[in-house]
Amino acid sequence: MIELTGKAAVVTGSSRGIGAAIARKLADAGADLVLNHSRAASRNGAEAVAESIASREGDNRVIISQADVSQADQAQKLIQSCLHEFGSIDILVNNAGITRDTLLMRMKEEDWHATLSVNLGGTFNCSKAAVLPMMKQRSGRIINLSSIIGLIGNAGQTNYAASKAGIVGFTKSLAREVAGRNITVNAVAPGFIATEMTGGMPDKIKKEMLDRVPLQRTGEPEDVAEAVLFLASGRASYITGEVLKVTGGLGM
Ligand code: NAP
Repeated sequence: MIELTGKAAVVTGSSRGIGAAIARKLADAGADLVLNHSRAASRNGAEAVAESIASREGDNRVIISQADVSQADQAQKLIQSCLHEFGSIDILVNNAGITRDTLLMRMKEEDWHATLSVNLGGTFNCSKAAVLPMMKQRSGRIINLSSIIGLIGNAGQTNYAASKAGIVGFTKSLAREVAGRNITVNAVAPGFIATEMTGGMPDKIKKEMLDRVPLQRTGEPEDVAEAVLFLASGRASYITGEVLKVTGGLGM
């Protein structure tokens, strides 16, 4: 069993979906958690995740920190809340993400900028805030949520694909920068996972996607959380700069 007791983790965008599953999985392994959401409207979601963690066995501590990770000052405060509450930051999962899908010829500049600034900018902001304390600790784990779309592309998602491909380059570069301080930086690239993000897709597109998945099913948030848990654990201590696909074989 993976043991993370005494480790402090920040999971961005953990009020629902994949982030919520990651937070629960890390908590099950014993980690203390900072849950994060950006909008007042999703506070309830974060509270429900905190309650589900608190209702299990174990004495994990959990706090909720509202922060828009695309804003550097808010990302800084998010990381500070972990340091302040738990005294360290051992695991950072850059999970917060959005889509603003449309064909390039119809894409508004704001759709481009919003997607890049949350997905890639948020990863930059939180990593930058976490790296200094991790370097002082001489240990740390950073796990970034990329996407299979960042590796193979998808019509209607130029902004999203660019942000997720950017995360791959960011991950490999940062992995090289901090390896000497015993900090690993890896990415997870999910395929087609059942969350609110994919729930709104037209049925025809969903079916086309599923037809391309060799394991012939949609992924669950827990499938992604298992991969993140592994990368956050001591079992992955010799793995850095990698992109682990969790896709049921899509894009293999
Ligand atoms: P989701 O259900 O839409 O949840 C997104 C989470 O991110 C929410 O908690 C949301 O909280 C938070 N968030 C959004 N903007 C934020 C911001 N500016 N600052 C802080 N938090 C913010 O999405 P998901 O499907 O779980 O996806 C999670 C990650 O996996 C994303 O990076 C996504 O790109 C990636 N991914 C998903 C799939 C998939 O099939 N679902 C596939 C590949 C990759 P608020 O509502 O409060 O903003």
